[in-house]
Amino acid sequence: MAPLQNAIKTPEGVEVNGFLISPCVENCNGCERVRAFENQEFCSSYPDPASKWNGGKCNFATHIKVEASAQAKINPLKASKRAAKGRK
Ligand code: SF4
Repeated sequence: MAPLQNAIKTPEGVEVNGFLISPCVENCNGCERVRAFENQEFCSSYPDPASKWNGGKCNFATHIKVEASAQAKINPLKASKRAAKGRK
């Protein structure tokens, strides 16, 4: 995992460019935007991952979008091919 750029530890928490940031949440596992700092994981795109997942999926998540669009495109095709084979 790549390190979090420009991150510093302050008495208030971890800061990047003067902004306080919060660690990643479980839903972030597998996302390419996760960065490591001080044995914790942070998002390279969003300061507060937990609020990104509040009430829905994170719209920056690389691991979720790929899965969703691949399923939507591939599964109907596979299903119809399987159905066609079964008929022969
Ligand atoms: S982009 Fe979203 S899912 Fe990915 S690490 Fe950041 S908050 Fe988590």
